[in-house]
Amino acid sequence: MFILDEMEQFQCEQLVFCQDPSSGLRAIIAIHNTKLGPALGGCRMWKYATEEQAVTDALRLAKGMTYKAAVSGLPFGGGKAVIIGNPNTDKTMAKFRSLGQFVQKLQGRYITGIDLGTTVQDMDWVNIESEYVTDITGSLGAFGEFTAEMTAYGVFLGIKASVGKVYGSELLKGKTIAVQGLGKVGYFLCRYLHEAGVQLVVSDINADRVKKVLNAFGARPAAVDDIFGEACDIFAPCALGGILNDQTIPQLKCKIVAGGANNQLAEDRHGEALHSSGILYAPDYVINAGGLITTAVDLGGFDAPYAKRRVERIYPTINSVFQLSETLSICTAAAADRMAEQVLAKA
Ligand code: NAD
Repeated sequence: MFILDEMEQFQCEQLVFCQDPSSGLRAIIAIHNTKLGPALGGCRMWKYATEEQAVTDALRLAKGMTYKAAVSGLPFGGGKAVIIGNPNTDKTMAKFRSLGQFVQKLQGRYITGIDLGTTVQDMDWVNIESEYVTDITGSLGAFGEFTAEMTAYGVFLGIKASVGKVYGSELLKGKTIAVQGLGKVGYFLCRYLHEAGVQLVVSDINADRVKKVLNAFGARPAAVDDIFGEACDIFAPCALGGILNDQTIPQLKCKIVAGGANNQLAEDRHGEALHSSGILYAPDYVINAGGLITTAVDLGGFDAPYAKRRVERIYPTINSVFQLSETLSICTAAAADRMAEQVLAKA
């Protein structure tokens, strides 16, 4: 792997390799872009098969954070840390303190937090060594519940904007929405949609989560592989990335794709594939920015009600993306990228 070429491809400012024999830490911090402010983005712990995979993941995720912060009007850049290791068996306080020392040495160029495989406890350990960490005990992001609720709230508002665009009215009552993934974000989203009178069709690989949503919101279950082909108005992916691809797009029977999952498009060209199939796609990093907005609000010292008000700006932002897509005759995914790149170019 040619690291500098790879960085250039992702337009990444700086890559920091961290290894500490005394704690066993092996980590990579990607600082993608700091034009708008310090690079903000969580720390993922994952059992990467190779170092190349860890580098690519850090670069890809950090770039996504830059674009998400830029379209959301936040004074932050994008960054991400990845720790190579099994989050279930390889975690120690020493590793996270060691990461904290590396983060501290960056003097605020990068601010870390929770991501896949890391918890509030881990961030509390980072915080022993560094002030540049969010999602610690007592913060708005602690335990992820409020952050996930705000992510779901932003997705809910983005769905309303999308429905308004496609159907000419934002009324959700009577619409059918298929939700894939009923974890933190999916559950809160189902709650908002149920309150708005939506008929829910849901799937999750975890049967207990499906049962919880069926009981609470009168949803109908779908098999994990069948959710894509469900007849519905909106498909809301809230589980894994890469689920909009050559196999799944031809199955879709919806008019809108709008959900909370990150990196929904397997490749950029799938944004175009949705567009040419006549399906309105609400770009993932625009509609799911509620969590990042909450973290940014917390870092600014503001409270939860302010975070909620700030998340409400996702609604006009999504409408601006749709408008730009129409004006330039490009797909919505490309329009969101243009918007982010315009903000960065002006900075
Ligand atoms: P979570 O781990 O709480 O929930 C994910 C759920 O998806 C789990 O219930 C899991 O069983 C289910 N799942 C996994 N594979 C599935 C499959 N093939 N079919 C159906 N269900 C499947 O995670 P979360 O915090 O709810 O995040 C969900 C998505 O939203 C992720 O892509 C995440 O990156 C993204 N996201 C989350 C936040 C946040 O604030 N939590 C913010 C932005 C984006």
